[in-house]
Amino acid sequence: MKYDDVMKLALERGFYFPSCEIYSDAQAGFWEYGPTGVSLKNKFLELWRRELLRRDKMIEIDGSQIMSSSVFEASGHLTSFADPIVRCTKCKSTHRADRIISELAKIEIPESADLEEFDKVITEKNIKCPKCNSNFENTKKFNMMFQVGIGPEGEPAYLRPETCQSIFVDFPRLFKTMRGKLPLGIAQTGKSFRNEIAPRQSLLRLREFYQAEIEVFCNPAKLNDLDKFSEIQDTEIRIQVNDEVKALTCKEAVDLQIIPNKFVAYYLGILAEFYEKTGIDMKKSRFRKLGEKEKAFYAEVAYDFEVETTTGWLELVACNYRSDYDLGSHAKKSKEKFEVMDGDEKVLPHIFELSMGIDRSMYTILEHSLREDK
Ligand SMILES: [Zn+2]
Repeated sequence: MKYDDVMKLALERGFYFPSCEIYSDAQAGFWEYGPTGVSLKNKFLELWRRELLRRDKMIEIDGSQIMSSSVFEASGHLTSFADPIVRCTKCKSTHRADRIISELAKIEIPESADLEEFDKVITEKNIKCPKCNSNFENTKKFNMMFQVGIGPEGEPAYLRPETCQSIFVDFPRLFKTMRGKLPLGIAQTGKSFRNEIAPRQSLLRLREFYQAEIEVFCNPAKLNDLDKFSEIQDTEIRIQVNDEVKALTCKEAVDLQIIPNKFVAYYLGILAEFYEKTGIDMKKSRFRKLGEKEKAFYAEVAYDFEVETTTGWLELVACNYRSDYDLGSHAKKSKEKFEVMDGDEKVLPHIFELSMGIDRSMYTILEHSLREDK
C-alpha cells in the first residue's frame, strides 16, 4: 500500500479532497473532508474526549480563531515563528532552506539553526535554484502566521497558528470560575493556520488544519507526586533511546530516567492507550525525544509521538514540557495575575502539552486500516 493508493481510495470513498478544486487558482495546502472523512474525524474526537478529557477530568473550551497582536508578541510567535527561506536571485522562486539542502545535498540541518549555517552549506555544496540553476540570495526568516486586517482601518490581528494560546490567556478566568485544582488539563480542538512555504501532499502538511490540544497546568515541585500514575505504570510505550526503539512500561521508563518524571510519563501513557484504540498499529509507533535544535522555541523537554507510514515517520503529537514560558510571558505582557494557589503554596503553574495533529492522525488511521484489508 503506497501513498498514491491511499489517496485514490480517499478520493473514491469521499474521505477528503482538494479545496476549491474546480478553479485553477486554488492554493495548495487546503483540503476538504467529505462525508466519510467527517464521520471518521467525529469518531476520533469522541474517543479523544472519552479517553483523555473525561478520563483525566479535563475541561474543554472553544476559543476565537482570530487573536490580537499582543497575544503573539507575548507568545514569541511574532519574532520566532518563522521558517528559513531562500529566494532565487533570477527567477525569484522561494524554497525552504532546510528542505532544499536536504533534497539536493542530503544534509539535514534543523530548521531552527542559525541562518549562516544554511548559507554556508549552500555555498560549500554549490546548491543552485532547481528551476533555473541560478544562485540564491542569503537565507531569510519568513513568519508563518496569516495576518488579517480588522475593520475598515485594517487593524492587524492574526489567525491563530496553534489552538493553545486561548487556553493560556483564558487560564486565570477558567481556573477561578471552574474552581480549578492543580494539575488541571484544559483542552481545545479546532482549526489553526500556518502559511507553510511548502505544504506537503494532502493531509500531511496543511495551511489550514485541525488540532486537538491539551495543556496540563501543574505545580513543578510535584512532578513525581501523582497518585494516578499507578493507573498507567504497567502500560507499555515504545520509546526511542539512542537510535533504538525500546518497549518499556511507563514505570520502567521513569525508573531508568528515560522519562524525567511520573507526571510526563502518565500523560505519555494515557496518550499511547488512546492511540491504541484508534486502530493505529502501535508496533509502528515511537516516542522520540527531540534534540536541542529540533525542539520548538518554547519547549524545555519535548517528545514527538510518531507513527511509521509508507511516506515515512509521521509526527502525530508534539508532547512539550513548556515550563512557565507561556504563563510567564502573558503575565508580563498583560500585567494580569497568573499565579494560583496549590494548597498553601502560591505557584505560577508549569505546562505540559499534548498537541495533536488531527489531519495526520486521520491519514495514518486510514493507511493502517487499508493495510489490514490487504
Ligand atoms: Zn531560479
